[in-house]
Amino acid sequence: MELTASAKRHLLVPAADMEKLGSKSLLRLERSEGIFVYDETGRRLIDGPAGMWCTQIGYRRQEMADAMSKQAMSLSYNSPWYTTNSPAIRLAEKIAEFTPGDLNRIFFTTGGSTAVDTALRFVEFYNNALGRHAKKKIIVRKDGYHGSTSLTAACSGREGNWKNFDIASDRISFVSSPNCRLHPGLTESEVLELLVAEFEFRVGELGPENVAVFLAEPLLASGGVIIPPTGYHARIKDVCERNDIIYVSDEVVTAFGRCGEWFASEKVFGVTPDIITFAKGVTSGYVPLGGLAISDRLIERISGENGKATSFANGYTYSGHPVSCAAALANIEIFERDGLLEHVREITPYFQASIRALEQLPLVADVRGIGMVACVECLIDKTATVATDLDKRTSLRIDELALKLGLIVRPLANMCVLSPPLVINKRQIDDMVGILKEAIMRAAVEMR
Ligand code: PLP
Repeated sequence: MELTASAKRHLLVPAADMEKLGSKSLLRLERSEGIFVYDETGRRLIDGPAGMWCTQIGYRRQEMADAMSKQAMSLSYNSPWYTTNSPAIRLAEKIAEFTPGDLNRIFFTTGGSTAVDTALRFVEFYNNALGRHAKKKIIVRKDGYHGSTSLTAACSGREGNWKNFDIASDRISFVSSPNCRLHPGLTESEVLELLVAEFEFRVGELGPENVAVFLAEPLLASGGVIIPPTGYHARIKDVCERNDIIYVSDEVVTAFGRCGEWFASEKVFGVTPDIITFAKGVTSGYVPLGGLAISDRLIERISGENGKATSFANGYTYSGHPVSCAAALANIEIFERDGLLEHVREITPYFQASIRALEQLPLVADVRGIGMVACVECLIDKTATVATDLDKRTSLRIDELALKLGLIVRPLANMCVLSPPLVINKRQIDDMVGILKEAIMRAAVEMR
């Protein structure tokens, strides 16, 4: 069968539009190089979202292929339930060097969802092991995204993703999205006070003895690149500490260079969490891998003398997969050798200034970002706080026009999100932002 016809007939892709199943197939990519991908017709496209916030070191790096091939030819796989391997050990040690505080115990998973799921299962295990069987509630935020397992999907505050699924919501409590745009007329510090008061009130309402964990992305990425008010994370962490609530920072997007640091929680957002989850950039998307770093302090309370007759029976066939871990080590080597974190710190102001210049355009209501992530929010009524269907259609049109002009933009409701491969240079930023600008202008003309 011809490929497009076969895709329509046999593939079920993530977030498939079920109404159009069988009649529509996604853009098919055939190859990639640097910051570019090439479609089935050979057309070159700038990869604006870096896959899905993943491809930090860019595409087609020979060292990555060599490292994976070498590992596949020495030890391709064995069970992580009763054996281990050198790449997994070396990678755990390396990641522990990068994590803040005492987050030195590393567990490997298959991606971001399984990393967050494991973090939540660890918290369950921890509290049960300590005999605190009522401490079960998970506090999360509206607009957050944490994955696609049953539990992580239930923790994701984007209700649009819930339709026709059963959501395990009895243990989950949502607080507000830390989005200052939702509070017109209030200053950033006033919004901060509101958010902290709401969180404290929620903990009191649920009862601290029932609240196990606060789960939060440092910036709400898939929710529209929402950057909380300055000081937010530290203030919430303070409430968590006073109430013996574990703070999990979901760094699936922000870790591995996206904000110019290995991990962003402490150095960029001013908080030292109890657990950090990571995925995506750890292998620059070359192969699947995720994981979490857990505080020694938590581990000590439930291990050794304190862990008698228990095993942390959570894991995956591919936990610590040798080929994935070898890829991650090669990825980190490239970061270090090429000074990629330094490059990100150097180029971020240029990227942010270029994208912020779009604020002057028609249809653009807000431009925000941090590090190498930015979002252009499009609203026909620039003062609105809720997007209409027309706003969403207009943004989709902008994405279509950008694609025609040679740029992939992540389609996200009424928002155009850019998070390019971190190896991007200034000329390529000009090209990328220039295309987005042209697409917005053309969409505005079409609307007249
Ligand atoms: N957590 C965050 C913050 C994410 O953005 C994502 C995916 O985009 C996930 C978790 C889930 O990761 P994965 O799709 O690798 O399972």
